[in-house]
Amino acid sequence: MAQLVEIAIAPLTRPLHTEFVTALRRTGFVYSIAVRLTDSDGVVGWGEAPQIWRVTGESLASIEACVLGPLADALLGLELDDAAGIAAILDGAVAGNTGARAACEIAAHDLVARRNAQSLAQSLGATVTEVTTDVTMAAATAPGAVDVAPAGFTEVKVKVGLDPDDIDRVIRIHQNSAVPLSIRVDANQAWDVSTATTAVTAWLAAGVDLGFLEQPLPAWDLAGLAELRRRIPTPIVVDESVFSIHDLRRTIDAAAADIVNIKLAKCGGLRPGLAMAELAKSAGLGVMVGSMMESELGVSAAASLAAVIGPEQTHDLDAAWWSIDPATDPEGPYRGPKFRLWAEPGLSVAANRIGADLGAWTARQVLEP
Ligand SMILES: [Mg+2]
Repeated sequence: MAQLVEIAIAPLTRPLHTEFVTALRRTGFVYSIAVRLTDSDGVVGWGEAPQIWRVTGESLASIEACVLGPLADALLGLELDDAAGIAAILDGAVAGNTGARAACEIAAHDLVARRNAQSLAQSLGATVTEVTTDVTMAAATAPGAVDVAPAGFTEVKVKVGLDPDDIDRVIRIHQNSAVPLSIRVDANQAWDVSTATTAVTAWLAAGVDLGFLEQPLPAWDLAGLAELRRRIPTPIVVDESVFSIHDLRRTIDAAAADIVNIKLAKCGGLRPGLAMAELAKSAGLGVMVGSMMESELGVSAAASLAAVIGPEQTHDLDAAWWSIDPATDPEGPYRGPKFRLWAEPGLSVAANRIGADLGAWTARQVLEP
């Protein structure tokens, strides 16, 4: 049986075509760490851990130290014929560091999928070859922010929470659309119950097709979210409130959400994401898969999960779109709102595509006996 013999990391930096602004952050680049596992037969598996100071608290330096330290200690020398148990091993190696753990867990799944000559999505049981995504519209304060949805998308997610004009801006985006437009709104924790109630009431009165309201209140405020749910008819999505399956259970117990946004960098990988989707569905909650600001490597892993837990619905997988121009990149994953799941083994196509954006590799290897 093949053994994990090397774990390596490299910085991954990509410019965005449009600056990304939310109530939590502003960036013109993807800043990630790529993780590569290699087994004793030379088969590799890749994962991506994005720097997300304001959500997971992880930085490029912390991800590097975590992956090459305790996570490498836990992984090197393992015999890997199945990646199902990897998340628990990584969870036992460090507290927090969910993005670093997710990158290693995804890399293990990628490696096993490549050994089995399956795409990552197929290896998880998916049967579809593409998933649908919304596209995010940056907050009104972003340079060049417009009140028109990007062409080709019929579902947008508007970032609010920074600007008193947010309520009117969403109405303008609705009115300016030439096609029926479903609008999702994400306040990234910036509001209180009364601000959120006022906004939703105004949007519904203006005829906005409001898909959902995401994380309107601070992550810790489950009681406030439950109160808001009693006041408005619009579904509430939890994002920053729910990292782990334990957070999800508390959210369900508090009746604080209608839908959970599952992100690999929050929950620690594909298996934890699958388990959370199962719990959410059994409790009557909707599930959506989201991503952080990351490249098509990380988004392909998230889309593979989405293809299993919600093949028919619209997810939140536009992160890589911000660094890819579909018009000049016909081999890329985006065709309007469709994100393509490559049929090649594992995440190999996505890993090849990011090669030019990688810095130098730093590796740890299993000690010789
Ligand atoms: Mg969000």
